[in-house]
Order: sequence, then C-alpha cells, then structure tokens
Amino acid sequence: MSSEPTKILLNEDEMPRQWYNIQADLPAPLPLPLGADGNPIKPEDLAPVFPMNIIEQELSTERWIDIPEPVLDILSLWRPSPLYRAKRLEQALDTPAKIYYKNEGVSPAGSHKPNTAVAQAYYNKEFGIKYLTTETGAGQWGSALAMSCKLIGIACKVYMVRISFEHKPFRKVMMNTWGAECIPSPSDTTEVGRRILAKQPDTPGSLGIAISEAIEEAVQREDTRYSLGSVLNHVMLHQTVIGLEAQKQFAKIGETPDIVIGCAGGGSNFAGISFPYIHDNINGSDIRIIATEPEACPTLTRGPYIYDSGDVAKMTPLLAMHSLGHGFIPPAIHAGGLRYHGMAPLVSHVLEHGLIEASALPQTECYKAALLFAHSEGFIPAPETSHAIAQTVREANRAREEGKEKVILMNWSGHGLMDLQGYDAFMSGKLEDYPLPEELLKQSLAAVKDHPKI
Ligand SMILES: *Cc1c(COP(=O)(O)O)cnc(C)c1O
Repeated sequence: MSSEPTKILLNEDEMPRQWYNIQADLPAPLPLPLGADGNPIKPEDLAPVFPMNIIEQELSTERWIDIPEPVLDILSLWRPSPLYRAKRLEQALDTPAKIYYKNEGVSPAGSHKPNTAVAQAYYNKEFGIKYLTTETGAGQWGSALAMSCKLIGIACKVYMVRISFEHKPFRKVMMNTWGAECIPSPSDTTEVGRRILAKQPDTPGSLGIAISEAIEEAVQREDTRYSLGSVLNHVMLHQTVIGLEAQKQFAKIGETPDIVIGCAGGGSNFAGISFPYIHDNINGSDIRIIATEPEACPTLTRGPYIYDSGDVAKMTPLLAMHSLGHGFIPPAIHAGGLRYHGMAPLVSHVLEHGLIEASALPQTECYKAALLFAHSEGFIPAPETSHAIAQTVREANRAREEGKEKVILMNWSGHGLMDLQGYDAFMSGKLEDYPLPEELLKQSLAAVKDHPKI
C-alpha cells in the first residue's frame, strides 16, 4: 500500500460558500419550459407549485449563487464529504489508473439528495410555507426531504410509489422517524389518484403518478408547496457543492481528473459532480465527462431530445429533455432511482452540445462491479451508484489495455444498506439483463409525437 492518502479531507471552513450555476456558461440558452398552450410559461404560472425564491433560482443565469448560512450550517453535519482514493479497487483491477470517489453516502439519509433537500426546505420556510408535498420512488428522496423538513422546521408529506411502499417498509419508517407522513401512491386522497385507482385498482404506481398527486395537493393550499428531488435547474445548482468540493480536494493533492463519471436518473448527482468540471472544460481543460444509465431505462442514449411533461397527468410544464415518453412504465430493475422517463433539461442540453458523453449499462454488469467494490473498498453502494462503478471499471480496464495512468473521479452517490433486495436477487442468480425492446420505446414515444419541436 502506498503512502498516498486514502481520504482527502477538507475542513468545515473550506466548504464552498457559493453554488455554481452552469446556466451562465451554456453555449446556447436553455430552451424555455412551455405551458399546455405551447407558449413559454411565466414565473407566475409556477407560483402555486413552488415558492417565488426557488422559481427565481430556477431561471437565474448568475454564475455564482451564495449558499445561505443556515443551509451551510446543516450541510456541515456531514459536509465536506470525503474524497477517497480507491487503492484496493485499483489493485483488484490491476490497473495503472488512479481511481477516486466522492462519498456522498455519508449524509444522514445515505445519499447526495439532502444537498438539495435542505436548501429547498430552507427556501420554502423563508417564503412562509408550512408544508411540503413530494413523491418518492425507491424512498431515497422522501427520506432526504423528511429529514431536511424536520431540521428546518416545516411539515412534509410523501407520496410513495405503491410497489416500493410495499417492498420497502423500512423507508417509510425512516420518513416517519423524521416526522413525515408517507402514503402509497396512487392514493384515494387526490383526484388523479382516485381516477387511476378506479381504472386500475391493483396498479403498482409510478413516479409520474406520484408527482401528479403531490402537485395536486400542493396547489390547493396557500401554505403548501411541492418539492422535486431532481430534474429541475435549481436542484442541479444545489448539488454542485459535490464537484466544487472535489476540485478543492484534488487541488490539495496536486492532481486533476482525466475522466469524471456519475450515474444519471433525473441527473442531479451527475450534474453535481460534473458541472464544475464542465466549467473547467469551457475554460480550456480537457476532461472526459460520462453520464451512465441502465440499459433498461436508456433516457440519454436512446430517448429523443423533445418537449415532454414530467408527470403522467401532465401537470408539469413541457420541458426540453431527453425522454422515453411521460407514460413510460419502466421495467422493475433494482436501481429504483434510475427509472425516471425524463432527464434534467440542463443535463440533456449539455449532452446535445457535446459537452458530455452518455453510456447505458446492463444491470448484471453493475451488480458485479458493486460486489467487486464491496469486496475491495468495503462500502456497499446503492444500486444506482453501481452504474457509475461499472463505467469506472470499464475505464480502468481500458487504461490497463492502453498502459495509461488515467485519473478517474466517480461520484459515489449513496450507500445500498436500505436496498439489499437487489443484491440478494443478484447473488442467488435471479437477476437478468433487460435491454429496452425497440417496440416498447416506439409505443411510449407515439404518445408524445404531437408535442412541440425544440
Ligand atoms: C436518487 C438517486 C440517484 C438518481 O438520481 P439523480 O437525480 O440522477 O442523481 C442516484 N443515486 C442515488 C444513491 C440516489 O439516491
């Protein structure tokens, strides 16, 4: 074992005090969200759903935005997060590459999601909001928001996709422990929910349905707003603390990454690690930046760049994004957080402009990489995170074949201790790969063929 450090740590006072807003540096302006009438929406149109201070942030093109002190104060419970050198993984792979990972699994909820949940709860409270609604798929976002609302001091209600609600009872207990209410979606407490239940009483639910329910409840009360854990510009912004810290950590050891890798569901942890490095590339660096996704839900690699809505009931504006179609029902792969039909407009945009690459991976390759990681580094990664690890393994193998000492940085978006069923299925040989059939993609896209063109 070399004498180089295993963990590169920052002091609390070295935490970034501003977020990086990539909207200041895009090669072309981000296409505007459209209303149902096909015209660009106005900030007021979003006011029943989000507080105005967050809407302003969503539209801001200022490059650096101050992180409020009370947010920094809560983030300091686990930030700065450690940057690890994965020496044992390097040895296991017999690669000349240096592998680093940013461990976002150290937050109280176990993933990167509290980075934005704390900020969103804070801005809502500042605006006078008493109650937040949201949806959750696998439960990570619901837990992150529940924890953040409790620390900030507002109430929280989570609509959890029914199939996960039934399969992951401990996620609900986690949310309850942090004082939030969690109910299965579709529920009989909303119009949308009742309509879907009437047609399909035994539906497993979907993220798209749960979003519709959470928005419906939020817009009905003056003191209530809705919160989204990924996809939107302000969420990408809040996550940039990850990459900004990584840059300071690399500066400490006099190194810079050649390759930056993150998994992408809605795009937030990927944006968090990569946008500050895209900023470097715009200013002359030459870093390869790769977003990875499941081949069962291949939004970036096979979804067209179109205007589509973020939910099933089309309550959200039309967003310019890579999408598999808002009615897409994803196959039941274990990386629950990577099963969304769309992708953040900002991540979609930087892919369109050639600033990043995208890669789709089979789930068995990902679990194999996750086990190799657990066997060498100890930590058990979230199934989502395993998609970043599998790509890292591919790049480390290529470095060996080419005899090059590449420096790889991956975002380790969360731990898998609440998501062990997938490991169980993989280790007992029950997991199969599921490349999305072309026919299913065609069917899903047929429903959005009349949407406005970008
Ligand atoms: C939610 C989640 C993801 C996917 O969401 P993004 O917005 O794409 O980051 C990835 N990893 C973990 C651990 C998650 O909880």
